[in-house]
Amino acid sequence: MPRLSGKLCLVTGAARGIGAAIAEAFVSEGARTVLTDIDEAAGAATAARLRMPFHRLDVRSEADWGAIAALYPEVDVVVNNAGITGFEGGVVPHDPEKASLATWRAVIAVNLDGVFLGCRYAIGAMKARGTGSIINLSSRSGQVGIPGAAAYAASKAGVRNHSKTVALYCAEQGWAIRCNSIHPGAILTPMWEPMLGTGPERAARIAEFVADTPLRRFGTPEEVAALAVLLASDEATYITGAELTIDGGLLAGTAARP
Ligand code: NDP
Repeated sequence: MPRLSGKLCLVTGAARGIGAAIAEAFVSEGARTVLTDIDEAAGAATAARLRMPFHRLDVRSEADWGAIAALYPEVDVVVNNAGITGFEGGVVPHDPEKASLATWRAVIAVNLDGVFLGCRYAIGAMKARGTGSIINLSSRSGQVGIPGAAAYAASKAGVRNHSKTVALYCAEQGWAIRCNSIHPGAILTPMWEPMLGTGPERAARIAEFVADTPLRRFGTPEEVAALAVLLASDEATYITGAELTIDGGLLAGTAARP
C-alpha cells in the first residue's frame, strides 16, 4: 500500500533540487502532488515528467497564495521548500557587518515571508477537516550561526521557530494539523552551483565543503525526500513541532567540539 495514497500534496520550489525530489517521492507513494515554483519552464517540465499539475507560485506573493487557495482548498500536505541563499550569481558572503539591506530583505522575503504565507494557506485549507501535515525546509544554518550568511541563517532560524509556533497553535485549536521543520546540511543540488563553480577547482571545493561532515559526502535530495515522505504520512501522526536534522552528522560533531 503506497504510504501517501489518497493525499493531496503541494510543494513549493518543486522545479528542481530537493523540491523536485520530494514531489517525485510523494508521487511514487501514491499522492496527487501539485508542483509550484517561480521558474515556470523548469517547473512545468518537472511536473510533466511526473504527470502532475504545475502552477507558477512566487512564495513571496500573497496574491499567488490566494490563487492557490482558491484552486486547492482541500490540501492534506504542504511542503514549504522554496528558498534562496543570497549567493545567487556567485559567492558574495553577506556577513553581519557588510551585508546590504537589499540582500537581507530579499532572503528574508523568500525564506521567511514565503514560509509564513505557506503555513497560513495550509492552516486555512486544513482546518475544516482538522488534519494535515505542514513541512518547512529550514536548514542546519537555522540551528547554528553562519558568519558569512547572516540573512540566510536568520531566515532559517525564523523558519525553525515559526514551525513550532504553527504546531502549538494548531494543537491548541484541537486540530491534528502537524507542523515540523527539516534541517538539511549540505545536499548537492543546483543551489550549490554558484559556490562550487566548474573547472579543476570544483572537486577541491566539494572536498572542502564536506571536510567537517562526519559522513564525508554531500547528502542527496532523495535522502531529504525520504524524510518528507515520513512526515507527510500517517506514520508520523505523533510528530509535531519537531526539528529533524539530516546533515551526515555535522551538527553532532559541532556540538561535541570544545
Ligand atoms: P534550489 O535552488 O536547487 O531550488 C530551489 C527552487 O526554489 C528553485 O527552483 C528556485 O527557482 C525556487 N524559488 C526561488 N525563489 C522562489 C520564490 N520566490 N518562489 C517560488 N520558488 C522559488 O534549492 P535546494 O533544492 O537546494 O533547496 C531547497 C530548500 O532546502 C531551500 O529552502 C534551502 O534553503 C533548503 N536547504 C538546502 C540545503 C542544500 O544543501 N541544498 C541545505 C539546507 C537547506 P529559481 O531557480 O528560479 O531561483
